[in-house]
Amino acid sequence: MAETFDVIVIGGGIMGCSSAYQLAKRGLKVALVEKGHIGDGPTGKSSAIIRQHYSNELTARMAYHSLGIFQNFEDEIGDTCGFKRTGFVALVAAKDQVGLDANVKFQRGLGIKTEVMSPEALREIIPGLETTDLVAAVYEPESGYADAYLATNAYAQAAQLLGANILVKTNVEGIRFEGDRVVGIDSSTVKLDAPNILCCTGAWTGAVAKMAEVDAPINACRVQVAYFRRPDGSEAQHPVVVDFINAIYFRPEAGNLTIAGLVDPSEANAIVDPNNYNEALDYEFVPDVGKRLICRFPAMEMAGSAGGYASLYAVTPDWHPVIDEVPEGSGFYICSGFSGHGFKLGPAVGVMVTDMIVGERNPVFDPHLFRFRRYQENDPVRGKYEYSIVG
Ligand SMILES: Cc1cc2nc3c(=O)[nH]c(=O)nc-3n(C[C@H](O)[C@H](O)[C@H](O)COP(=O)(O)OP(=O)(O)OC[C@H]3O[C@@H](n4cnc5c(N)ncnc54)[C@H](O)[C@@H]3O)c2cc1C
Repeated sequence: MAETFDVIVIGGGIMGCSSAYQLAKRGLKVALVEKGHIGDGPTGKSSAIIRQHYSNELTARMAYHSLGIFQNFEDEIGDTCGFKRTGFVALVAAKDQVGLDANVKFQRGLGIKTEVMSPEALREIIPGLETTDLVAAVYEPESGYADAYLATNAYAQAAQLLGANILVKTNVEGIRFEGDRVVGIDSSTVKLDAPNILCCTGAWTGAVAKMAEVDAPINACRVQVAYFRRPDGSEAQHPVVVDFINAIYFRPEAGNLTIAGLVDPSEANAIVDPNNYNEALDYEFVPDVGKRLICRFPAMEMAGSAGGYASLYAVTPDWHPVIDEVPEGSGFYICSGFSGHGFKLGPAVGVMVTDMIVGERNPVFDPHLFRFRRYQENDPVRGKYEYSIVG
């Protein structure tokens, strides 16, 4: 006979593990089912930048809450997430100055430590940064990056200590219904029963949602990340930088490395089969991203290439997630489509989906903005002042 749970979570990335932890903390009997190992999907390949600069209030609030958890991760979750406070800088062109000022104003109102910065002040924080072409920047002194693999495994372990059943190497192959309600899953190794199924399957959500006869507008898109070894004389750690002018982000990594990737909406066009795509870097990617990096940080001209990889974003039409029960009353919940900026929101997402499943209204993290039907309603998520796909 199949074992019965209150909730079955499918997917052991940051969203599945944070949710499993919060659900178990509320006293629910939880099973988490992952086809590979915990955190070894796209979450484990994440650049894991943690910043709070968003153009809509809900996501900024989620990022702010989550930063507080990452800062105190051992106390809150019981193990390390490798958080490094480096500071975060976003650079914008003249046309975006008004939007930047407005975003910073509302973020400060939420309690976020953030300030608009002149190019001169910026050069004091990052000596050698090329600033002649930019008008303004924003600086968050408390932000940085973490180790997404460690954070996710810490959540899984904490969930397990609270009684959650974590099943790895278990591929979900079917979702069972009785009438209009879910009753369980069939997997490669076990059958499990539950009246609630939470689908945290990232780039695989299209296929898993189909098992519940839901057509989810979430594509698996291939993205790349390159590593560069900082040259002699420039070994010092720099803050995380998102440069909207050159459409690039970069952050330091251990061993004098700098990780760089693109901030490019056209990455949504690189739709691939998540079970069969090229995980190696394209030949042209390193010189392309390298040139953009040198433009902003000329000292990197003498940097050495140190490899990289390709992984997957789960991209929705408006680059914001779906967090909703679909259809209403079915017990099938989608929590996916974080479109390349979800890691930093993981702690808040766990709280949000738990409230949704237990039927508690949380005015701080009201998920209405991320409802499934917003695309049919032609009401996608939009910030008042957006520069790119920053959200
Ligand atoms: C290169 C890269 C850089 C990024 N940089 C940042 C960043 O700097 N900051 C930031 O905030 N975010 C960043 N992101 C985005 C962030 O990492 C993701 O939004 C987040 O990790 C998504 O987590 P997830 O749990 O939704 O999905 P995933 O990590 O994809 O987890 C989904 C899991 O579901 C499992 N699964 C799928 N199908 C099944 C099935 N049938 N049965 C069982 N299990 C299944 C998969 O194996 C996988 O482990 C980046 C992402 C990438 C790829």
